[in-house]
Amino acid sequence: MADVDGRTRVLGLFGYPVEHSLSPRMHNAALRHVGVNAVYVPFSVRPEDLEHALAGVRTLGLAGVNLTIPHKVAAVNLVDEVVPRAAAVGAINTVMNSDGCLIGDNTDLHGVTAALEEAGTTFQGKTVVIAGAGGAARASAFAGAFGGARQIVVLNRTRERAAELVRDLGDCAALAGALSDLPSWLGVTDILVNATPIGLHEGDPPMTDLERLKPGSVVCDLAYRRGGTALISRAKELGFATVDGLAILVHQGAGSFTLWTGLDAPVDVMRKAVVAAS
Ligand code: NAP
Repeated sequence: MADVDGRTRVLGLFGYPVEHSLSPRMHNAALRHVGVNAVYVPFSVRPEDLEHALAGVRTLGLAGVNLTIPHKVAAVNLVDEVVPRAAAVGAINTVMNSDGCLIGDNTDLHGVTAALEEAGTTFQGKTVVIAGAGGAARASAFAGAFGGARQIVVLNRTRERAAELVRDLGDCAALAGALSDLPSWLGVTDILVNATPIGLHEGDPPMTDLERLKPGSVVCDLAYRRGGTALISRAKELGFATVDGLAILVHQGAGSFTLWTGLDAPVDVMRKAVVAAS
């Protein structure tokens, strides 16, 4: 428990539900480690209360908050400024309170990019195939676009949603398709991203047959479960480099931590805290 005094700054997470989140453990471990006098608290905020909750950030002087499901898109229109990269994505996961001015940013982009870099690769010049078209897929697709991917392929169960994401990507070379098309893309894929919940449950099979994946590809699974997903396990068996959802969670948290504190985030401390809590 933090040693709270009259100068303690408050950071938080707005989500609904929020009880399952690993972020409080991760951020409080980081704050303690670097010796910043602040605490990070979960707040269960219903969608209809988001506007008031954000106004509360100003009135109560919270230093900043993270936003998670279902608030990331709605919050874009409720803060005072949105940084350009987050405005392009159309979603924010981090709010900084700068003397009452709420500034929204999106560190999910950094999360994907930094986790890939940790695995020894980048998006530059790559063909990126993304399964899913929800919030996680959107962050991955824009991270790929900002990172110089050669081509981005978005494959989704609901094809129209994939097409919408591709439209939002604008000038970038991107294609939309159905999730059932995935096997036919595997032979040309450099980075495969699972941004669906397939694999979250014990006993789920890998979301696709990786035998056909291009040699040297990187497999990235945003779905995370203790012990690893079947997709990541199979990718490791076949010798592919992997990026798991825990690495992405930790790096998006590290991005938020740096925005709030101006300090380098203690990534290993954050990772240990998440592993211990998951
Ligand atoms: P979301 O916005 O609700 O989107 C879910 C996506 O998965 C949609 O494209 C949906 O397709 C697809 N989908 C859902 N169930 C499916 C099924 N049974 N078969 C095929 N496709 C299915 O959710 P999200 O926030 O993007 O999250 C997606 C995954 O990423 C989750 O596993 C979440 O835990 C994970 N995630 C991880 C992190 C991290 O930091 N590691 C961060 C965010 C999310 P339709 O459009 O057809 O419904």
